[in-house]
Amino acid sequence: MAWHATFVTLYPDAFPGVLGIGVLGRGLREGDWSYDVANPRDFGVGNQKAVDDTPAGGGPGMVLRADVLAATLDSVEADRRPRLLLSPRGRPFTQSFAHDLARGPGAVFVCGRFEGIDQRVIEARGLEEVSIGDFVLAGGEVAAQALTEACVRLIPGVLGAPASREDESFEQGLLEYPHYTRPREFEGRAIPDVLLSGDHAKIAAWRREEALKLTRARRPDLLRAVQSGD
Ligand code: SAH
Repeated sequence: MAWHATFVTLYPDAFPGVLGIGVLGRGLREGDWSYDVANPRDFGVGNQKAVDDTPAGGGPGMVLRADVLAATLDSVEADRRPRLLLSPRGRPFTQSFAHDLARGPGAVFVCGRFEGIDQRVIEARGLEEVSIGDFVLAGGEVAAQALTEACVRLIPGVLGAPASREDESFEQGLLEYPHYTRPREFEGRAIPDVLLSGDHAKIAAWRREEALKLTRARRPDLLRAVQSGD
């Protein structure tokens, strides 16, 4: 079975979105991965098909109802896929998390809206909260697409190259070295000589040094993690 994503969303039109273009779009058409959507609106209560209500205890905004979301999740085929809730409170998403997910059968992505979702359905349905960064979006759809894109491009065949390039950012705990291509000179800036030398060992050493320099300057936290073996 190909890698499968289910998006639980009040906005099914947001999908496939960016997942329908480029290498992911091709992978989708060729069956390397697939997706479907489940809409809580279909499980809304009353004549209005309500999916949200005011927060217990007061405060701004609306909260997605536990019973509505549980019914939606229960309509999704029960299988081994992890159920992830996109949430700024969640575990930070990383490249190694993407590798773990990509190796599995896929995932169920629950896209929040409004102020968030009732805590009881998170516990009752064992949702794991995942964040794409320390900022607040209006909904989980973009975050779910970001996770899916990071995973699907690792599926063998989707990029038309090995599942992951060893020197890509984060693969070795380093940021990637800078790239250059034609023309040889651009607005007075030349391509570093070493890259035109044809000496592969020298080129590899230069790239590693540049990757280290960049990582030291921009993300010293990544280097510390490599050294401590995290
Ligand atoms: N009141 C919440 C934010 C709600 S934002 C809080 O303060 O934590 C509405 C929805 O957008 C969330 O339920 C979540 O699904 C999604 N979302 C917002 N920021 C996100 C982030 N950084 N990562 C993943 N999902 C996010």
